Amino acid sequence: MTIAQPAAAFRGGSLDDRVAAALATLPRRSGLDDLHDRDLAPAVAALHREGLLALPVDFEGRDGAPAYGLPPSDVLAALVRIGGHDLSLGRLYEGHVNALQLVCLYGTPDQKRRLRADARAGRLFGVWGADGLPPFSAETGEDGRLRLEGSKRFASGLGLVARALVPYTPPDGEMRLLLLDATDPERMDPSGWRMSGMRASRSGRYDASRLTAGPEDVIGRPGDYKREPYFVGGIWRCAAVQLGAIERIVELTIGALRDGGRLDHPLQMQRVGSMLMEARSARLFVEDAARRVEGGEVDAAAVSHSAYARLRTEAAGLAVMEAAERAIGLGIFCEGHPIEPILRDLRVYLRQANPDGTLIEHTRTLANLFVPGRPA
Ligand SMILES: Cc1cc2nc3c(=O)[nH]c(=O)nc-3n(C[C@H](O)[C@H](O)[C@H](O)COP(=O)(O)OP(=O)(O)OC[C@H]3O[C@@H](n4cnc5c(N)ncnc54)[C@H](O)[C@@H]3O)c2cc1C
Repeated sequence: MTIAQPAAAFRGGSLDDRVAAALATLPRRSGLDDLHDRDLAPAVAALHREGLLALPVDFEGRDGAPAYGLPPSDVLAALVRIGGHDLSLGRLYEGHVNALQLVCLYGTPDQKRRLRADARAGRLFGVWGADGLPPFSAETGEDGRLRLEGSKRFASGLGLVARALVPYTPPDGEMRLLLLDATDPERMDPSGWRMSGMRASRSGRYDASRLTAGPEDVIGRPGDYKREPYFVGGIWRCAAVQLGAIERIVELTIGALRDGGRLDHPLQMQRVGSMLMEARSARLFVEDAARRVEGGEVDAAAVSHSAYARLRTEAAGLAVMEAAERAIGLGIFCEGHPIEPILRDLRVYLRQANPDGTLIEHTRTLANLFVPGRPA
């Protein structure tokens, strides 16, 4: 993707400064608050106040329409910072950025103008890929409008997301993308999202039965949604959010050991060393993936390195959580301990689709690139 030029310089500081300002107005998590419908609306409003909802599309493309133009290193820093504050909020902002990027890549100038107006008005976007039961479908009627049926599940941000990008496969064609109004409370069913963590992401079911949509709501051409490097390759953003939580656990663990006079014990040092190395290696993988996928260079291995960054971050997250539990001991599970809610959230958020298949597929690709000429 060509990175567009800014329409105007960032108003009032860098992306990272604005994220820091927005988060400074929000309370830190405490206790088991998230098991009882913690509401992220004030947090989304804080992102909006700092201009963070519209910032990714405050650029101008060659066609004079809004364009997605944030440098990947800035997005990475923002996602890491938000993830370190609150993984559920990070999940929502990641989905928002993903949706804005997809509309800018594949939408018409009019669709991009609508997108920017919505984002400037504080509307949050999401990408709802996973189908519910019955699965989401869209068929063209005689009047040329789409008749929608079925539902999406794991739809993050119920009640917070106003516009959702939803993929569907027409009976006789390739996958397409539709921009759906997601604001009807009657269609939201959060009851299946009774998770031990990430509750505040409100990732439930959205029923689209009997809705209709016009051609102006269809984004891009058939097959665009799965075009690489942005489809699988975009997973680096999810890993960046997770990385924020991983680094926060390391930071809090070091602080707790130091405060308790236990940091200098050689075995605690060994544990902290392994945590630092895990976090560092995840960071290097994620930074490398972001650069490869969005740096503007053609890179045959970019998508696979992004998939590997996801897997490396998952492994780092599991290792860091175990080390923190062993370093701090029982107290880490106590309600009110600052690490406790992060552990619950991160365990849930690390569960992304099909890790085994991801490893096999991308190892095949990278093995062939590593030793060319003998495809597996
Ligand atoms: C907090 C959160 C928010 C989310 N938000 C959204 C959202 O907004 N929109 C959206 O579309 N999705 C969302 N998702 C869903 C996400 O994209 C995945 O669909 C989901 O996390 C899949 O998790 P799973 O563990 O059930 O995966 P699975 O793929 O079922 O993996 C479970 C295990 O089964 C293995 N496995 C998978 N396939 C096979 C097979 N064929 N044979 C044998 N083993 C297999 C895997 O390797 C793994 O070991 C969200 C998920 C989370 C955690």
